[in-house]
Amino acid sequence: MFKARKSIISSIGSLFFCLALSAQSTGFHIHILGIAQDAGYPQADCRKECCEAVHSGTQKGASPTSIAIIDKDSSRFWLLEASPEIRDQLRMVQEKFPKCSLAGILITHAHIGHYLGLAQLGREVMGAKSVPVYVLPRMKKFLETNGPWQLLDSLGNIELRPLEFGNETQLSKDLKLRPVKVPHRDEYSETAAFDISSKKSRMLFVPDIDSWDKWDLKIEDILTLFKYAFLDATFFSDNELSGRPMAEIPHPRVTQSMDRLHGLSKKEKGIVHFIHMNHTNPILRNSPERQAVLDVGFNISSENTVLPFP
Ligand SMILES: [Zn+2]
Ligand SMILES: [Zn+2]
Ligand SMILES: [Zn+2]
Repeated sequence: MFKARKSIISSIGSLFFCLALSAQSTGFHIHILGIAQDAGYPQADCRKECCEAVHSGTQKGASPTSIAIIDKDSSRFWLLEASPEIRDQLRMVQEKFPKCSLAGILITHAHIGHYLGLAQLGREVMGAKSVPVYVLPRMKKFLETNGPWQLLDSLGNIELRPLEFGNETQLSKDLKLRPVKVPHRDEYSETAAFDISSKKSRMLFVPDIDSWDKWDLKIEDILTLFKYAFLDATFFSDNELSGRPMAEIPHPRVTQSMDRLHGLSKKEKGIVHFIHMNHTNPILRNSPERQAVLDVGFNISSENTVLPFP
């Protein structure tokens, strides 16, 4: 088993291997690779000020939400989500952690920002060999039975590893994943939040959820179990999408999440790292709304930052 795994890792490693040394300390780290909603920022065909500012160069854009968990000790990393911008996101990891190679991909659900990047592992691009892709049962079936994903599986570019809600999966000796069911529009797959533990720390990743109220768990009660909680911040408030009924796209508004968590201390609020922002969300940019979120102690994820995860 160990031998087989080693050969898989080394073959994947050859795709990513690089000789330079990184200056970061050892152990686990969290590398933020993308912070936007599935569409990225700017969004296709948006001609409003939010996205025009990126096209004109006065505002920085953002990639769809993705995070790498880096293990410096074993020179490996795991990707949370295979976003459509996986090419640039893999490059970000290679630049900061040149010795590390891809050890697996964890996917929360079948919405475009979260899995389309898998296509880049196929023979037209990387020609990857048996990259473990961790998925829940419906997501697994969806990939196994629909092109082009089916081909990745049958040609052995990816190796689907089944997850079960509530069950722990050991990603490596010191890294554990527990998927938790969250309410969301489950057209093609179920939707998971990921509860991930390293040696001494725990993080929660909830990029998409319809509402905190509909969840079995109370976010305000469980938050302090974690060192970091990356929470769905798709929309800031209810008046963001002109001409499109917001009820069709339920997500907890950032204002609602802040209200719900207002009883926590400032330090506890610092556990929250808002992520998955829609192009219309003012906290993606310098704005009074962004400042208000930061002033009360919450964090807003920022691309290409690295957080310790001991
Ligand atoms: Zn999403
Ligand atoms: Zn826009
Ligand atoms: Zn979604």
